Amino acid sequence: MNTHTTSKTHITLLGLGDMGTALARAWLAAGHPLTVWNRTAAKAGALAAEGARAAGGPAEAVAAATGPVVLCLLDDASVGEALDGIDLNGRDVVNLTTGTPAEAKRRARWAEERGARFLDGGIMAIPPMIGRPETGGYVFYSGDLGLFERHREALEAPAGAKFVGEDPGRAALHDIALLSAMTGMFAGITHAFALVRPEKDLDQAGFATLLAEWLGAMAGAVHGVAAQLESGDYTEGVTSNLAMMAAANATFLATAEEQSVDSRLLTPYMELMSRRVAQGHGDEGLAGTVGLLRGE
Ligand code: NDP
Repeated sequence: MNTHTTSKTHITLLGLGDMGTALARAWLAAGHPLTVWNRTAAKAGALAAEGARAAGGPAEAVAAATGPVVLCLLDDASVGEALDGIDLNGRDVVNLTTGTPAEAKRRARWAEERGARFLDGGIMAIPPMIGRPETGGYVFYSGDLGLFERHREALEAPAGAKFVGEDPGRAALHDIALLSAMTGMFAGITHAFALVRPEKDLDQAGFATLLAEWLGAMAGAVHGVAAQLESGDYTEGVTSNLAMMAAANATFLATAEEQSVDSRLLTPYMELMSRRVAQGHGDEGLAGTVGLLRGE
C-alpha cells in the first residue's frame, strides 16, 4: 500500500488491461504512488482498493501527473483516441503500447508537437513476469534519453529496462524483430509436434524436453549470422553450409509427407535457401538468405 509521504516517483497509468493491471500492481508493490485510468472504469475498482487513485477520465489523470504518464493500451490508434484533445504540455509520456517503428516515430513527433517528452517501450514479458525480476522480463526503451534516465528507477520496478537508442522507433523495431523470430520458432514447434502426433505411444512431454533442449542449442547460431553480416563474408566460420542444409530439406519434406503433415510452414524458408544455393552460394551460412528477404 503506498502512502502520500513516499519519496518514490508518482506514476500515472492509462490502460488497465491484463498488462496494464500487472504493471499497476508492480508499481504499487514497489511503493510508487499511482493514479490510474481505464476506459472501462470497473477495472480500476480493484486497484483503487489496493492503493491506487482512480481518475475520472484521461484528462484528469494526465493533469494530476507529477511523474511519467505511462500508456499501456491496445494499439497506437487507442493511444490517439485516449489522449485526443488532452493537454500534454510539459509531460513525460512513456508509451508501452505495442506498435510499429513508424507508429512510434509518428507518436513521438505528435507528442513533441504538444510540448511533451516521449519515450517508447516494447515489453518483452507477459503479465505473470511483471514485478518478478527473476523471470528475466524486460522492456526495450527508445526516444528521449533524459526522460529515461530521470525515471529509470521507477521504470525498472515492473521489469528490467534496456535503452536501445534515441530514435523513438528503435524499441518497437527490437520488440517486433524478437517477436518475429519467436513466430518462426513457434511455426517450427508446430510442425515438429504435427510430425510426432500420430505416434500414440510417443510421450509428448518427453518429446517437448528434447525439442526445448535442441532449440536452445541451436539458438547460438544467431551469433554466427551477426558475425557474417558484420564482416560481409557469409562463409566465415560456417560449419553447416546452405548446400548441405538445402539437400537435407528433401528429407524433411518426404518425412512430412510420410507422416501426412502439411509442410506449408517450412517451404517458404526452404525456397529461400535453395534460391541462394542456385545463385552459387552453397558454401555460405544463414546470413546469405538475409539479403534475399530484402530483395538484395
Ligand atoms: P488488453 O486487451 O488486456 O487491454 C487493452 C487495453 O486497452 C484495455 O485497458 C482497454 O480498455 C484499452 N483500450 C482499447 N481500446 C481503447 C481505446 N480506443 N481507448 C482507450 N482505451 C482503449 O491488452 P493488454 O493489457 O494485454 O496489452 C496492452 C498492451 O501491452 C498491448 O499493446 C500489448 O501488445 C502489450 N503487451 C501485452 C502483453 C501480454 O502478454 N498481455 C505482452 C507484451 C506487450 P477497456 O478495458 O476499456 O477495453
